[in-house]
Amino acid sequence: MKFALLIAAVLFLLTTTSLAQTAKDFAAEWDKQHISSLPPSNVRHKDLQKYLEQLKKLGLKVEEVGRSYANREIYQIEWGTGATKVFMWSQMHGDEPTATSALLDMFAYLQNNRGKTWVKELEKTLTIRGVPMLNPDGAELFQRRNLQSIDINRDAQALETPEGRLLKKLRDDWSPNIGFNLHNQNSLTTVGKTDKQATISFLAVLGNAENKSNEGHERNKRICAVMTLALENFIKGHIGRYDDAYNPRAFGDMISAWGTPVILIETGALHSKDEQFLVKLNFVAYLSALKSLVDKSERSANPKIYDALPFNDSGNLFNFIFRNANVVNFAETSELFTADIAINAERRRANESAPTFIREIGDLSVFSGLEEFNAKDFYLVQKNGLLRIGASGEFLFYKKTRKIDWTAKDLERTFPPDAVFSNGKWTRGEKLLPKKF
Ligand SMILES: [Zn+2]
Repeated sequence: MKFALLIAAVLFLLTTTSLAQTAKDFAAEWDKQHISSLPPSNVRHKDLQKYLEQLKKLGLKVEEVGRSYANREIYQIEWGTGATKVFMWSQMHGDEPTATSALLDMFAYLQNNRGKTWVKELEKTLTIRGVPMLNPDGAELFQRRNLQSIDINRDAQALETPEGRLLKKLRDDWSPNIGFNLHNQNSLTTVGKTDKQATISFLAVLGNAENKSNEGHERNKRICAVMTLALENFIKGHIGRYDDAYNPRAFGDMISAWGTPVILIETGALHSKDEQFLVKLNFVAYLSALKSLVDKSERSANPKIYDALPFNDSGNLFNFIFRNANVVNFAETSELFTADIAINAERRRANESAPTFIREIGDLSVFSGLEEFNAKDFYLVQKNGLLRIGASGEFLFYKKTRKIDWTAKDLERTFPPDAVFSNGKWTRGEKLLPKKF
């Protein structure tokens, strides 16, 4: 009898653990099963098409639903047979690619795991439609706007872009119950006034100028709480709340106003983590959200967890700060002065080097850099001799003990520097300047 009880207890534990998928389980499964192989920023339209062929082979429904301004195909993936309709779209801004890869991984995962009890429940309860890469022309050029140079996310009223018209049509023809608007935000966005990067930020979109909440918005706040708790396993302190100013030209607001309450997910960055890590976070967030809709756990989620997220902030953080540099600005003045210099890198594809530009000069003691170097024992010279805001962030460093004739022609060759910093990297004298964390 005792043995029978023990067996029953073990069986119970086995079934409940196989049903109870945690955020960590989702992350581990992404590690083993994701189909996206390229860094998202390197994914072109032709790469998307290859991924979609893979999804078709798995038996997923993939169809062309429209064309971009340059006549590139725009696709929609569908999975599930349930009554609750979920609509997810990514890369409306061409240089915001993370969610495109995450959507592909999510659909492949759901299709490949249809034997699992909780996935079966999802399939029965939800119909999910996803549009990966709504702006393929912008993605090709790695630019925010479409080929008309219009920001599609400011075209919800005018509807002058084919991509914007398509997004509205896909919503209007189907009237989904929930929408996920998937973007990337600046990698230097911070969680409130801290120096912590906002790796993921959420917004349960209200969709009206009067800030009136409704049932769909309340539900979305609870879903944001579910996703926050899931992601805190990996990026605690790095989750922010997006600024929720109503913008009647923006799709997130208007799709909510048209009757599909929208959740905005903005992916930022996390220093020393690659783009694929961000894909995994998105994957975990989507599955946690979808599962909570199906097992009804969203109903008991605490919306205050979402309310308590600090708002996004900017201007507190730079890519690099060189502290206490002895600045030689010989093109402007013969006098030396001491200053902190901050530089930021431009957004580029993973396989391209990102140029840096000087963004701040002076006492920067209240700011932080993702990487900081102590330059107090060095002279710092801008590569072209011109140290000013907006100039390229390429620097030559000379030990202070050296005697240098700053007026020398071709300074770099006549007096070879001890260290050189260029395009965000040390090309000479790495580790010479002490790094500060
Ligand atoms: Zn965006």
